[in-house]
Amino acid sequence: MTRNSTRRLATVGAGALSVAALLAAVPGSSTVFAGRPGGAEPVVAQAAKGKPRPDARHVVLAVHGGAGTALKRENTTPAQEKAYRDGLADALRAGGKVLDDGGTSVAAVEAAVRSLEDNPLFNAGKGAVFNEDAGHELDASIMRGSDLAAGAVAGVRNVRNPVSAARLVMEKTKHVLLAGEGADDFAARNGLQTVTQDYYWTEKRWQELLKAKGQQKGSGETLTQGTVGAVAVDAKRDLAAATSTGGMTNKMAGRVGDSPVVGAGTYAKNGTVAASATGAGEVFLRGAATATLSNLIEFGGANLAEAAYEVLVERLPELGGTGGVIALDAHGVFDAPHSSEGMLHGYLTEDGRTVTKIFADETPANS
Ligand code: ASP
Repeated sequence: MTRNSTRRLATVGAGALSVAALLAAVPGSSTVFAGRPGGAEPVVAQAAKGKPRPDARHVVLAVHGGAGTALKRENTTPAQEKAYRDGLADALRAGGKVLDDGGTSVAAVEAAVRSLEDNPLFNAGKGAVFNEDAGHELDASIMRGSDLAAGAVAGVRNVRNPVSAARLVMEKTKHVLLAGEGADDFAARNGLQTVTQDYYWTEKRWQELLKAKGQQKGSGETLTQGTVGAVAVDAKRDLAAATSTGGMTNKMAGRVGDSPVVGAGTYAKNGTVAASATGAGEVFLRGAATATLSNLIEFGGANLAEAAYEVLVERLPELGGTGGVIALDAHGVFDAPHSSEGMLHGYLTEDGRTVTKIFADETPANS
């Protein structure tokens, strides 16, 4: 199927959504949303004030490269800017090609995330951060919106592309999450490329580990660094999401974050949303971040932007952590709210337009 036919589908969908949005804005309509118990004002009321709104429409694929340290224009050389934008654009191109060739959204998010995993700039695959023992343990997950099938790996040490291992778990086992050696062995047995730990070594991450250890003496803080993810809708309007990470710099050996956990770092359900998160993993786990996003749409009457705002800007910071999410619905409505200073991300529209956002001032926090 060509992108043109995708375009037709998505255009019809966007029309349907705007009718729903209009209905939601009618006072006393059945979409009144209660918000969190005892918490902030209902999100529908915020929407009436002009916020929150989706970032883009007619999107078929989006990626993120983490909500860690925000890139600031004054500290970023033109070469660095180009490298980050190219990294996001390459991933969009890889996933977009899959969609253009008639592939599924699952295949598209896998291709996009593999591209980011192979790029040392991002905290996943090749560019994974170090744990406290100067080792690397990687987490990834993938989910299919049509039937809620999901697969994930946690704490793998020898898989070049953990997202592909996650897809194999989804498609070739009766389980959802494999961890540690068993997951590494499973990936190798199924023909995935294996690497030794030194494959993941990069000077940048090494320096970050040293810095984190120095800071830790003073403050006890750990650093959040990146994570990658993708969301997509295909010509059949099936949603998919995937997330992959090296975790957090200087994390304890054995620590698993939100990225491989369905409903925390990743979620996809055709009737609601495909979402991939990045940020303080423990908070995203405790807040069941992406499942809550989906539930607010399904049971709370919120639209995608309202639900994403509610989770990312209102609920999670109250649990003590910041981050962001990319969220896409089956009609191509896209939003990327974050409470962190910035979030590297980009999207591809049905007519082939690629947009990348890497600087904090391109994506203001809390919007
Ligand atoms: N969420 C990831 C984790 O906790 C880290 C990140 O996104 O920066 O492992």
